[in-house]
Amino acid sequence: MFRRARADREFREAQRAGQAMLATPTEWPLPETPGPLAEAAPAAPETAVVPDFLPPDFRAPSRQDFSGFMMRWDSPLVIDGEVRECPECGAYRNWIVFNMRDDTIWLRCRAGHETKETGLDTAWYNRNSGPVDHFHPTLEDGLRHLGH
Ligand SMILES: [Zn+2]
Repeated sequence: MFRRARADREFREAQRAGQAMLATPTEWPLPETPGPLAEAAPAAPETAVVPDFLPPDFRAPSRQDFSGFMMRWDSPLVIDGEVRECPECGAYRNWIVFNMRDDTIWLRCRAGHETKETGLDTAWYNRNSGPVDHFHPTLEDGLRHLGH
């Protein structure tokens, strides 16, 4: 009885999220332009909640349904042997990493400076991000959720 009610609720929530994503325009070439985002948790198995009762359509929305993906990256980011620094303020940790639909990677420091990162790509992002666990209607909503 309880399990059933919980499954129904989670299904309805997933359905709402799906509808919200589909109802929102997804043209969003750069991180500073508001648009829907999917957030990936940092790779941490204990945070991965993958309900097994949802139809596949709800489990894996297409990449093209989103303007991009985002995750926190708190430690220094080493690319080709060098620690990345924000060109504007010198910050080298507490990044938000964006993987946009056009396959570009952007780094955003704590102060909100956004820099395109050509040393990383979607394959890197996919290797280093956990499963998508939140959907955000706007960039601001996603940043707030990630503590920026
Ligand atoms: Zn900065």
